[in-house]
Amino acid sequence: MTDKFKFAMYWAGSCGGCEISVLETGTKILDVDANFDVVFWPAAADFKYKDVEAYDDGFIDLCLFNGCVRNSENEYIAKLLRQKSKVLVAFGSCATTGGIPGLANLASAQEIKDLVYRDNPSLDNPDGVYPQEHYAVPEGELDLPHMYDTVKTLAQTVDVDYFMPGCPPESHQIAGVLDVVITALKGEGPLPAKGATIGVAPKTCCDECKRVKEEKKISSFRRIWEFLPDPEKCLLEQGVICMGPATQAGCGARCTSVGMPCRGCYGAPEGVIDQGAKMLSTVASIVDAPTPEEIAEIAASVPDPVGTFYRFGLADSLLRRAKV
Ligand code: SF4
Repeated sequence: MTDKFKFAMYWAGSCGGCEISVLETGTKILDVDANFDVVFWPAAADFKYKDVEAYDDGFIDLCLFNGCVRNSENEYIAKLLRQKSKVLVAFGSCATTGGIPGLANLASAQEIKDLVYRDNPSLDNPDGVYPQEHYAVPEGELDLPHMYDTVKTLAQTVDVDYFMPGCPPESHQIAGVLDVVITALKGEGPLPAKGATIGVAPKTCCDECKRVKEEKKISSFRRIWEFLPDPEKCLLEQGVICMGPATQAGCGARCTSVGMPCRGCYGAPEGVIDQGAKMLSTVASIVDAPTPEEIAEIAASVPDPVGTFYRFGLADSLLRRAKV
């Protein structure tokens, strides 16, 4: 072990894209190597939980925690890494707002298990076997983490220093954040204010988007695969629900630049409490329908409203979860 700063990264309830996004910083990863000893990064090297348990409190200088808190193992490691880290960053949409896994808050854990292990037509499970949390084998007792009913964000579990949204965070934003943190750890600059959202830009995704906006009204919604959108014009004004007006800037409007609507992964802009509610009010303001019946018909043309308006933020929204 050298006297470099100590770096950790953990993958909780998530797909692993955040881990790849750090590697996508290209040569910036050499700055990590030059300034940090990696002391815990299970996706990159063979670290064990007992390694972290043995560290002094505050031993880790910077910990990037990606993924939501979905089960007892995620919760245990979140609390352990909080205890061992000076700077803990909720890294990516799942850690920050629950992300796609947060949509599981529409059901209970048992309903999800039933869907996967009992009602799943693609599963060959004639004996109806479910995962067991405790199972005895000749070598001893095997334990699986307990799956909670409610997906939680990192900040709903432990105190978090910074939030870095994105599914995954863009590599140029990660590089910028690493520069700030390394400079601050060396005592050559300030850290952002505690609780800040970092790796983002002011305003909304619409402000970064190059598509032309004309403030048109629309009378129906379409999905992106149902027609060939005009490549120059605002997708929302062509009837595609694009979360740009309700999404924090910072990604450079990557999705809309290649013809896909913004899905909202950078979360709510500064000052907005509930991203889905903000987008619903935006949509309501552009719908062109004179009667309640027509409004209802247009609203019904939005498939999967929760998955559309709360795709990345249900667990952190005012709704948080469905009653089950
Ligand atoms: Fe661009 Fe979407 Fe905003 Fe339209 S709604 S300007 S397509 S980000």
